[in-house]
Amino acid sequence: MIEVKNLTKCYGKITAVDDISFTVGTGEILGFLGPNGAGKSTTMNIITGYISSTSGTVTVDGTEILKEPKATKKKIGYLPEIPPLYVDMTVRKYLEFMFELKQVKLPRKEHINEVMRLSGLERHGRRIIKNLSKGFRQRVGLAQALLGNPPVIILDEPTVGLDPKQIIEIRKLIKGLGKKHTVILSSHVLSEISATCDRVIIIADGKIVADAKTEELYSVLSDRQRLIVTAEGKSSLIMTELNKIPEVARVNRDTAAGRGVFKYSIEFIAGADIRRSVFNAMMRINCPILEMVSGDGSLEELYLKLTENAKGEEN
Ligand code: ADP
Ligand code: MG
Repeated sequence: MIEVKNLTKCYGKITAVDDISFTVGTGEILGFLGPNGAGKSTTMNIITGYISSTSGTVTVDGTEILKEPKATKKKIGYLPEIPPLYVDMTVRKYLEFMFELKQVKLPRKEHINEVMRLSGLERHGRRIIKNLSKGFRQRVGLAQALLGNPPVIILDEPTVGLDPKQIIEIRKLIKGLGKKHTVILSSHVLSEISATCDRVIIIADGKIVADAKTEELYSVLSDRQRLIVTAEGKSSLIMTELNKIPEVARVNRDTAAGRGVFKYSIEFIAGADIRRSVFNAMMRINCPILEMVSGDGSLEELYLKLTENAKGEEN
């Protein structure tokens, strides 16, 4: 349904999106996950034709956004990061206004009722947008995206700033959309994406760093394992000795666990078993091991690790 090919966007010297390619199948709910500044909004703005790319192409259901912008835009409903709402209008007036602007050809009253129902706005048509809570404004933005029944729905951080109850409701709405639409949704929160999406693309620093089915994400991300060792003795010596073990990729000293006692987080190549080597190493330098546990690391930790370089560049 959507094909993104070698997309690049530069703002002066900044490369916000760096040669990314992916496809999204019909009816798929794709999560676009990455820290702030990763390039999510830029990518979405290009797919929806709001801004142009520096290079690369976006094709939606056979038409290319740059070549046939009007026809392509008609296939997409977009909820931008900051939805352009006319806050002095009532919910229904605004949707009627957008209905005309988008030149929707469906029966007006029925269709607006339908998108209001889908967005959980049935009883709120007469309310003035500026008096609505953030959660309800987000629903109005969503309803606007659904106008015209576009086959593709793109939602940029749809749950940001909502309270937990509103988040659960919006998630339910989005899941429901997946039955009839192809959906791309972005978030900087992993749990958000894993709760709603079939597939996840992780983007950091303008590049795709992972692309996997949600349930396979963990194994894709975890090509390293961790062992947490609590040991007594001089840390620098312990670190040096642990780093000598061939399968060890990285050692971090975590928290102090007592006088002269520290926890060490040892990353090593998946599939290896370094416990005996660790024991022998500590024996050699006469530093007793007080505890040794395997730390698989949560999916959240893996995600943070994967994106931490990009994070470091933020203000
Ligand atoms: P995300 O949505 O993942 O938080 P964005 O796509 O908004 O990330 O931004 C990606 C990068 O591009 C950031 O470094 C941001 O500062 C930069 N950027 C975004 N929009 C502009 C712009 N209009 N002018 C200059 N730089 C921009
Ligand atoms: Mg953004």
